[in-house]
Amino acid sequence: MNKGKDYDLIVVGAGPAGMTAGIFGARSGLKTLVIEKGISGGLSNEATDIDNYPGFRKIGGMELAEKMKEQTSEYAEIKELEGVNKIEIKEKEQKMMVFTEKDSYLSNAVVLCTGTKKRKLGVKGEDKFLGRGVSYCATCDGFFFKDKPVIVIGGGNSAVRGALYLKNVGCAVTLIHRRDELRAEQYLQKKMETAGVHILWNSVVKEIKGDKAVGSVVRYDKESGIEDELPVDGVFAYVGEEPVNALATQMDVKLDKEGYIITDKGQLTNQERVYAAGDITGGVRQIVVACAEGAIAATSAYEDSIG
Ligand code: NAP
Repeated sequence: MNKGKDYDLIVVGAGPAGMTAGIFGARSGLKTLVIEKGISGGLSNEATDIDNYPGFRKIGGMELAEKMKEQTSEYAEIKELEGVNKIEIKEKEQKMMVFTEKDSYLSNAVVLCTGTKKRKLGVKGEDKFLGRGVSYCATCDGFFFKDKPVIVIGGGNSAVRGALYLKNVGCAVTLIHRRDELRAEQYLQKKMETAGVHILWNSVVKEIKGDKAVGSVVRYDKESGIEDELPVDGVFAYVGEEPVNALATQMDVKLDKEGYIITDKGQLTNQERVYAAGDITGGVRQIVVACAEGAIAATSAYEDSIG
C-alpha cells in the first residue's frame, strides 16, 4: 500500500459529525481522511434556517456546512463524491482496509458517520410521481410550487420546517398528520400557527394520484372513517429517517432494534477502533449533538492510539 494512502484515522461521511471528527482527529495529530459519497454537509444542506446551533442566531444549512468544510480542510483531507463500499477489519495487522468506488485506503481506526436517509411514505403513486410532484425536500423543490396547493406529511421538526418554508415561498400549504398532536418543537409549532398553515389532524394519505404529475391525494380521516380526494400539485413527505447502516452491518457492528449503531460514552462500537458519531447513533438528532459526538469519537481514537 502506497504510504500516501495509509491513514491513522478515516472518517466515513462528511456531515457535521464527520467534519468535526476530521477537525479533532487531525488536530490531535492523527493523519486523518474524511470520505464523503456526495458533497460535504449531509442532511444539514437541506435545512433552510438553523437557529439552534450556538454562535449563529440564524444560518442557512448550506452556509453552515460550507463553513464547516472550510475549517475541516484546514486540518484534514476531505474526499467528496467517493462512496465507501466496504471496510475490512484486518485483525492481525490491526488495520482497516477501506474500499471506495475509486480507490482503497488503510487506516488504524475508523469513525462511521453515515447518517440517516429520508423514510418513504410507502403509498401507491409515491415512486411513480417522484420528481413530478413528490418530494422529500422543500428547500430543494419548493420554489417550483409557488402559488400552488401542496401538502406536507408528518408531524416532526422536518415537516414543520418544510411547511414553513413552503408557506414562505408562496405555496398554499396543508399539513397532514396522523395524530392529533405534533412532535415538533413548540417554538416551531407556534411559528407555523402564526404563519397560518392549515392542518388536517388524524389523517393519512393513502394514495397519490395524477396523470403526468401529481394532481391529488386520497386522504383517510381516521376519526370519521371518511376518505376524500384533495387536489394538490405537490406532496412533501417528512415521515422520519432511517439509519444508513449497510457498512456497520457488514462490519458486524452492533445495532439497536431500530438499526442505529450502539456506542459507549467514547463513541466506540463493539468493534475495536471502530467509532460512530452523529445521526447514525440515533438519539437526539441535532447538528450540535452530531458535532459533539464527532469530537468525542476522534478524541477517543487518538487516546486509544496512544494506549
Ligand atoms: P421525526 O421526528 O421522526 O418525525 C416523523 C413524523 O412523521 C412523526 O410526526 C411521525 O408521526 C410521522 N410519521 C412517521 N411515519 C409515518 C407514516 N407512515 N405516515 C404518516 N406519518 C408518519 O422525523 P423528522 O421530523 O424528519 O426529524 C428527524 C430528526 O431530526 C428528529 O430527531 C428531529 O428533531 C431532527 N430535526 C431537527 C430539526 C430542528 O429544527 N431542530 C429539523 C429537522 C430535523 P408520529 O408523531 O405519530 O410518530
